Amino acid sequence: MKACVFKAPGAPLEVTEVPDPKAGPGEVVVRVKDCGICGSDLHAAQWSVLPAGTVMGHEFSAVVDELGPGVTGLQVGDPVMVVPMIPCGECDFCRTGQALLCSHRTGIGFEAPGAYAEKVRTRPGALLKMPPGLSHRAAATVEPCVVGLHGLHRALLQVGETCVVMGAGPIGLITTMWARFAGARAVVVSEMAEGRRAMALKMGADAAVNPREHSPVKELVKMTGEGPDVVFECIGVPGTIDEAIRYARKGGRVVVIGACGEPDKFTPIRALQREVDVRFSNGAELREFQTAMALLACGRISTEPMITHTVGIDELPRAFAALSHPNDQCKVMLEF
Ligand SMILES: [Zn+2]
Ligand SMILES: [Zn+2]
Repeated sequence: MKACVFKAPGAPLEVTEVPDPKAGPGEVVVRVKDCGICGSDLHAAQWSVLPAGTVMGHEFSAVVDELGPGVTGLQVGDPVMVVPMIPCGECDFCRTGQALLCSHRTGIGFEAPGAYAEKVRTRPGALLKMPPGLSHRAAATVEPCVVGLHGLHRALLQVGETCVVMGAGPIGLITTMWARFAGARAVVVSEMAEGRRAMALKMGADAAVNPREHSPVKELVKMTGEGPDVVFECIGVPGTIDEAIRYARKGGRVVVIGACGEPDKFTPIRALQREVDVRFSNGAELREFQTAMALLACGRISTEPMITHTVGIDELPRAFAALSHPNDQCKVMLEF
């Protein structure tokens, strides 16, 4: 089959032939339909020590292609959203139908071959059957939707509260969408790239400002008379947590979704004096996957506005390289 593989840090990905995966006992092979390019893939390809030959891609939908011995409850051709991890199939969680909590999971798209390829091998515990009405394209955005939804749950957002969202990359945009959906009174997005500010307005922001020119807090105060109850940090570079703490109103919450891998510093007394809660968000729960799928399927939320480009696998290396530099692309979808 065709796969798009990682060669070396900073080098372009390469489309090549690799052996088709085979479904062993208890395993399933799926045929990829749509796969989103994620910022963490760009980051990994640039900076981290992925082994050469790694096939990335973890935001994807597929159809069941082959069932290994002993697999029940699935049929070849079933449309599925794939949770990007291979559960071990043996631990207590896996045996009691809670494979998403598996403690010996393997990450698809990093440790195990991912969906920048025609087929992927996994186990049935990580497959969620798509509800009627959900397109494969929308299903490929379920994973980032869940990242934002989990952040929203961590924020304990109440109807009528106000938010600042820092960063309008895909996760910031999705978080904006959820905050709006959950009844935020006002959502102001802070983002330096003009194209992404425009996208934020499409995804439900009341205002989107360039933090180099305007304070998002001042903008929010103009609208509601007070600072944000919740600040969502969706950037993940050194200094942004400190900035988020400065933005939050007295007694407000900061939810950190951006994944910064470097040491960072903040000034505790700023958070202390105003009793700002700082919470980190990373998990994903089965009910969050089900919620995101159901709401996308019935059209009550939509990620379509943020999908700016669709490419075939042969165009993927070029699209991937282009995403490493600021441009008008947002979510780029690999489609088969
Ligand atoms: Zn991702
Ligand atoms: Zn397990």
